[in-house]
Amino acid sequence: MAAGLPAVVRRGRQASVRGPVSSTGVDDRSHATTLAAHHHCVSPRPRLVDGAVVVRRDAHHLLVGTDPGVVVPDRPGLLALLRCLDGVRDVGVLQAMAEESIAADVPQVLQELAARGVLTVAPDRPVARLTVVLRAGPGCTALEAVLRQSLDDLPVVPAGPDGPGLVLQLSSHEPPRSLLDALVRDGRPHLLVRRTGRGWRVGPYVAPGHSPCVRCADLARIDVDPQWAAVLPQLEVPPLLAARDRAGDAAAWETAALVGREVVRAALGVRPRSVGAVLRHGEDDGWHVHQPVAFHHRCGCWLLGAR
Ligand SMILES: [Zn+2]
Repeated sequence: MAAGLPAVVRRGRQASVRGPVSSTGVDDRSHATTLAAHHHCVSPRPRLVDGAVVVRRDAHHLLVGTDPGVVVPDRPGLLALLRCLDGVRDVGVLQAMAEESIAADVPQVLQELAARGVLTVAPDRPVARLTVVLRAGPGCTALEAVLRQSLDDLPVVPAGPDGPGLVLQLSSHEPPRSLLDALVRDGRPHLLVRRTGRGWRVGPYVAPGHSPCVRCADLARIDVDPQWAAVLPQLEVPPLLAARDRAGDAAAWETAALVGREVVRAALGVRPRSVGAVLRHGEDDGWHVHQPVAFHHRCGCWLLGAR
């Protein structure tokens, strides 16, 4: 059976000789190692990566994915096998299918597809769900609407304004620090989303006691600009000439996409990019890290982590 796979094997080995990163930009060795490890601990459920469709390339080859895709020599039953790589069937089921009707060595096919970046292993654990509270001040109508719609599709549980969980605080101006202080005191994680001029700033994502808070950022700015202490309180009230927030605002959609990504990272236990940083939406150049935020020695929020 394995003799039917020489071209796949040869292609994979050539990629490894040239270097650890394949044409798909995925580390060949880590993929192969990961799959091998799964073989030995649990029954893995292989799945083609998102967007990796399987089509016929010509009379003798199949194409898995299109960016750039992996060319696989065809043989009886292989197309059916590849289309079963959906993260539902485990390796044992696939092997049983192969023994009945497919002229292919299933583990070898899976190893090669994984090494070439078009196969992954579905997680055995269900996706973590995070409770999220969306709080929006005036002037954030468009962003709030897009975010509420998006949250329905994310692995999160929306909660009322006073519910538990991660607080997404939307504001068309600097939010009152007393409000943020209360969140820190209560140990509630929160992500600040502020309008600035015609764009938005996202961050910092604050896990009280574990990551720098907004007060830390304020104190750092006062260190270099002492007058900021007098300016800041004036910015905590809604401006008379607030930037217009309207439906179809491209900045609102881009901001919502970034906030959604931060929420998903938090839900999956992956560090959000706005931990210890503020990300700013640039009018012309998309997103970039605007300002790193570090614990400030005069804030004391870090003491919460020592409790
Ligand atoms: Zn702080």
